[in-house]
Amino acid sequence: MEQYSILGRIGEGAHGIVFKAKHIETGETVALKKVALRKLEDGIPNQALREIKALQEIEDNQHVVKLKDVFPHGTGFVLVFDFMLSDLSEVIRNSEHPLTPAQVKGYMMMLLKGVAFLHHNNIMHRDLKPANLLISSSGHLKIADFGLARLFSEQGERLYSHQVATRWYRAPELLYGARKYDEGVDLWAVGCIFGELLNSSPLFPGENDIEQLCCVLRVLGTPTQDSWPEMVDLPDYNKITFKENPAIPLEEIVPDTSPQAVDLLYKFLVYPSKQRCSAQQWDSLRGITKRKCEEHVDFRLGRVLS
Ligand code: ADP
Ligand code: MG
Repeated sequence: MEQYSILGRIGEGAHGIVFKAKHIETGETVALKKVALRKLEDGIPNQALREIKALQEIEDNQHVVKLKDVFPHGTGFVLVFDFMLSDLSEVIRNSEHPLTPAQVKGYMMMLLKGVAFLHHNNIMHRDLKPANLLISSSGHLKIADFGLARLFSEQGERLYSHQVATRWYRAPELLYGARKYDEGVDLWAVGCIFGELLNSSPLFPGENDIEQLCCVLRVLGTPTQDSWPEMVDLPDYNKITFKENPAIPLEEIVPDTSPQAVDLLYKFLVYPSKQRCSAQQWDSLRGITKRKCEEHVDFRLGRVLS
């Protein structure tokens, strides 16, 4: 820790406090994520170990935050990352105007590239949301916060916790208590983030878990045997029944949006996880051409925020 001088506190979440700091020898600015252990005898929490393991095992990707170093500190330890200017939740909150279609495309492109890379490496992030998508001073997006990430098995036979993902971005199968799920939970979150970029406000802002499900059902319509055959097998399926209501066209949920963008949103926000558009598929989609996006990413973001 003596190698760094702390410049200030930049964030605090469920799994640690994040500081801006300077590496004294090189002058490099970094982010230090301090993960404290409640009691010494608790040992290193699984969650933190998962984060380190997931990050150390994968090769570099330009849309995934890089773990530069990790060292023990006090009763816990410290993760060292490249310093990033902001995160997507701040960008959405601080921009005076709605994001332009070009900005939305740019962020979506970078998010999907990062998610495709993680899924290709069998990593489910499980907590994708704007606050976990860091933005550099040049406007580049990197996926961060692997506190809940885990490797998934191809067979999909393992049981996982359903208490994952921040509520607004939590896939419907998780809301129904699924213990077997797949990387589709991340693709649902991608859809929620896409809607939030388009509207500058969260798509499904439920105030509790039941209300969360209501928010989703209100928009997508009550699921049926046809639209979601797997639903009847979910642990909490019989615990809650909802009044039947039809879907609201997404055009009305994200007004002033191009038909292509609405089309893409429909591909992520579907009940059966397997039917969600995979992150690898996205670039073959109409209206989202890579070159176009790259040309239009707003690299002046640094100035807007400072
Ligand atoms: P938690 O597990 O506590 O949510 P995160 O890794 O998501 O921890 O970090 C919490 C917040 O700290 C982020 O939302 C972001 O605002 C800020 N932050 C995290 N990492 C960095 C970084 N490398 N550079 C700048 N800010 C960061
Ligand atoms: Mg976080």
